[in-house]
Amino acid sequence: MKLYNTLTRKIEEFIPSSPPNVSFYACGPTVYDFTHIGHMRTYTNNDVLRRTLTYLGFKVNEVMNITDVGHLSGDDDSGVDKMEKGAKKYGKTVWDVAKFYTDFFFKTTDALNILRPSVTCKATEHVQEMIQLINRLKQNGFVYETPEAIYFDVMKFNSYGKLSGQKLEEKIQASREEVVVDNDKKHPADFALWFKRVGRFADHTMHWSSPWGEGFPGWHIECSAMSMKYLGETIDIHSGGIDHVPVHHENEIAQSEGATGKQFVKYWFHNNFLTVDGQKMSKSLGNFYTLEDIEKNKIDPLSLRLLFLQSHYRQPLNFTWQSARASLEAFNRLKEIATNIKPHNAPTPLKSTKAIAFQQQFKSAIENDLQTPQAVAVMWDMIKSDITNEEKYFLLTDFDKVFGLNLGSIVEEKIDANIITLAERRLEARRQRNFDMSDRLRIKIEKAGFKIEDVGDAYKIKKI
Ligand code: AMP
Ligand code: ZN
Repeated sequence: MKLYNTLTRKIEEFIPSSPPNVSFYACGPTVYDFTHIGHMRTYTNNDVLRRTLTYLGFKVNEVMNITDVGHLSGDDDSGVDKMEKGAKKYGKTVWDVAKFYTDFFFKTTDALNILRPSVTCKATEHVQEMIQLINRLKQNGFVYETPEAIYFDVMKFNSYGKLSGQKLEEKIQASREEVVVDNDKKHPADFALWFKRVGRFADHTMHWSSPWGEGFPGWHIECSAMSMKYLGETIDIHSGGIDHVPVHHENEIAQSEGATGKQFVKYWFHNNFLTVDGQKMSKSLGNFYTLEDIEKNKIDPLSLRLLFLQSHYRQPLNFTWQSARASLEAFNRLKEIATNIKPHNAPTPLKSTKAIAFQQQFKSAIENDLQTPQAVAVMWDMIKSDITNEEKYFLLTDFDKVFGLNLGSIVEEKIDANIITLAERRLEARRQRNFDMSDRLRIKIEKAGFKIEDVGDAYKIKKI
């Protein structure tokens, strides 16, 4: 498996620390507003990576956090608390807001057939782990305290900026444009590990006791703390959108490596954006569509998955309703084909060299830094080819282990078990060239109201 690693800026051979196990941490959603389909592009691609690794024989342990502690908007820690803003907007408590939007997030990921992580962990339930980690950083000399907060001192961490390739001097320039609220910060790129419940935060609803008084954690620390708790100090893969590269993930590296002295992540996996008219789909721009918008427009959420598969995860993808409808049409065609070619007997291994070659082409595409557009093209070529329907169906469900379009479960017709038994006996009779017996069984099946059709060495049953 070859995978692009943001840290080295290269496509590398993927070798986890202890194969076949793979530790995978996915930055989860901030649950203060509706999840939109832009987020879903990132989570679908994470899911495709996870399914690909599983397809190739790895055992993936995926952990995802839920950011339910209100954190401050803007990467510079200035501005308004997102959770409280969400609560005000919808007239609820911060806890209600978090629960409501977490449920909506999973409703959306389920609709897109995105596998649930092995562990889903909430920031609010891991504040003690975050405090312990801040203490470790303090012991190692990476933090300083102001009347308002505990900060990570980026000047003390030599390799700060290694993920984005940004130099600290460039950061200073960039952050000059921003409003730096805490004048006691030593460097504009320093980031809060802990906020005290004082001054502008005196009314902050969510707060916990800490060695620095009542307060609440900064955003970045939760991912380092929970990733270490569930996956250990060095993990194989960490994922997120490309917006997380210059700040959130840079800060996660600084905190984690500052505390442990070990490499935090072997492979950084970053997804490019879903855009609208060329601009990132985002809550703040208001140019977003949710699962409800998709369903209102009669777009099957699974066809959205097919749309995402048709672009490479490192390229931007511009969303239009026209492309969503085209993808729906293609998806419906695929479902129809799957229904028509589905044999009722158990699938047998591939025999023809052509079919085996298609499987190889598919595998090469996904192994090559998840070339899903190429893998989808292999699927259509395979469907159009002259291999048997049984082999086509076998390959379709095989590819679907990675695509996740749920093609295997779409076509179940309710057919009695005793009819299947008759059909299996008939298939056996035909294999033994006992055509008298096979005819008698066919008549029996037809009398029961079913039509049986032979498809090579397989059969299909339909209600008459
Ligand atoms: P958030 O809840 O804003 O932290 O976002 C959750 C995840 O979705 C992060 O990994 C973001 O980078 C990602 N994300 C946000 N907007 C988009 C978008 N328009 N396209 C793709 N990924 C996105
Ligand atoms: Zn994170």
